[in-house]
Amino acid sequence: MTDTKTNIEGIYEQVVGRNPGEDEFHQTVREVLNSLEPVLDRHHEFVEHKVIERLCEPDRQIMFRVPWQDDEGEIHVNRGFRVEFSNALGPYKGGLRFHPSVYLGTVKFLGFEQIFKNSLLGLGIGGGKGGADFDPKGKSDSEVMRFCQSYMTELYRHIGENIDIPAGDTGVGPREIGYMFGQYKRITNRYETGTFTGKEVNWGGAPVRFEATGYGCAYFMREMLQTLDESFEGKTCVVSGSGNVAIYAIEKIQEFGGKVVACSDSGGVIHDEEGLDLETIKRIKQVERGRISEYAEAHDRAQFEEDGNIWTVPCDAALPCATQNELDEDDARKLIENGCIAIGEGANMPCTPEAVQAFLEAGVAFGPGKAANAGGVAVSALEMQQNAGRESWSFEYTDQQLKEIMQKIHADCRDAAEEYGTPGNYLNGANIAGFLMVARALIAQGLI
Ligand code: NDP
Repeated sequence: MTDTKTNIEGIYEQVVGRNPGEDEFHQTVREVLNSLEPVLDRHHEFVEHKVIERLCEPDRQIMFRVPWQDDEGEIHVNRGFRVEFSNALGPYKGGLRFHPSVYLGTVKFLGFEQIFKNSLLGLGIGGGKGGADFDPKGKSDSEVMRFCQSYMTELYRHIGENIDIPAGDTGVGPREIGYMFGQYKRITNRYETGTFTGKEVNWGGAPVRFEATGYGCAYFMREMLQTLDESFEGKTCVVSGSGNVAIYAIEKIQEFGGKVVACSDSGGVIHDEEGLDLETIKRIKQVERGRISEYAEAHDRAQFEEDGNIWTVPCDAALPCATQNELDEDDARKLIENGCIAIGEGANMPCTPEAVQAFLEAGVAFGPGKAANAGGVAVSALEMQQNAGRESWSFEYTDQQLKEIMQKIHADCRDAAEEYGTPGNYLNGANIAGFLMVARALIAQGLI
C-alpha cells in the first residue's frame, strides 16, 4: 500500500498536470493537501473512495463570451466564468470577481477554497466561484450595467436558489448585484431573491452583509487574541486594501479599541500615525469611487507612499484584506521583526506559503482566510434563510448570529488542529475541519 505522503504527492502532481498554468489553483490545493496527512493516516476510507481526487476536479466549469458596448458605442468582449466546484453539502455558493487579472485559475483557486470555507460554516452550502476579466474601475454606471446584463444573459441558465447562488467579491458590490439580479428577473420572470446574496437591504438583502467579511475577520481575530490573553484594545493595526473587506475590518477594530494606522489600494499606501479616519475612507472609496491617495489631501498629518509596502509599517496585528499573494516571506519577516503578534487573512490566500510558514514558526497567531474571512458567506447563508422565510431581520440580530458563527468556526479550527496533532495551527485546523464534513458527505452520497 502506498504511504500517505507518496499518495498526497501523487495527487498534487496529477492536479498540476491536469490544470497547467493555473498557479493559484495549484497553490491552494498544495496548502490543503499539506494539512491532510494526519487525516488520511487515520481515515483510510477517504483514500479508498478517492475523496481528494474527486474534490480537486470541479463538478462543472463554465466559460463564456461577454460582449458589451461602452458609452462611445465601441464593442468590447470579455470572458465570463463560473466554476461549480462541489455541491456535496448544499447548492453551489460563492462570489463573483470582476477584475482584469481574472482567468480560469483564479476562479478555480477561489472555488476550491470556498468548498472548505462553506463547510466550516455548517449551514448546508456547497462551493463555487465566478467572475470575469472585466475592470469596473473607471467605467460609468451605464457601462457597468450593460456589462452585468450581458454577463447574466449567459449565467442565468446555470444558477437558481437551489442550484447555485452567486454573491459579490472584488469588483462586485451592491451596484453590480442589483444590475445582475434585475437582468435575471427579466429573463426568467421570477422574483427569486434567494438566487443572489449581497442584495441591498430594502429588496431582500441581509443587514450586515456588506460589513460581514470585515466584521467577521475582526471577530475571529478577537477570539485568537483571547487565547493569548490579548485583545485589540490599544493595539496598533495595519489593514491592506480599502475595499469592502478592509473598510469594515477597520470599523470593527476601531470599535474594539484598536488603532488602525495604515491601509492601501493598488496605487499605494496611506499612513496616518494618529489612526485612520474611516469616514474619509468611506467617502473616497464608497461614495466617490476615488483613490486612497486622496486621503492625504483631506488629512495633512497623513502620508501617501505611491507603490509603498504596507507591511513595513510597524504594528501589533496585520490584516491583509486586498488580494492573493500580497504578503510574501520578506514582508512576514519584517512584520515579525516589528513585533506583530497576529495575522487575520481578510482576503483569500493573501499570504504566500513561505510567509505563512514564517508566521507559524515564529509563533504568530495566524488566522487563515478560509476561517477568518468566512463572515461574508456566513451572512450570505443567513440572507438565504431570511429570504426562504420571507423575513426581514434586524442588524443587531444578524450581527449577533455572525459573531456566534465566527466563534464556532474559531473553536472548530482550534479543536481540529489539536485533535490532529498541531495545536495552535489554525491553518491545519480549518483545512481539516472543513475537509471532514465534505469528505463524509461525498462518501455517503455514493460515487458521483
Ligand atoms: P474590493 O474590490 O471591495 O476591494 C479590493 C481592495 O483591494 C481595493 O482597495 C483594491 O484596490 C485592493 N487591491 C486589489 N488588488 C490589489 C493589488 N494587486 N495590490 C494592492 N491592492 C489591491 O474587494 P473586497 O474587499 O470585496 O475583497 C478583497 C479580498 O477579500 C479578495 O481577496 C476577496 O476574494 C476576499 N473576500 C471578499 C469577501 C466579500 O464579502 N467581499 C468575502 C471573502 C473574501 P484598487 O481599488 O486600487 O484595485
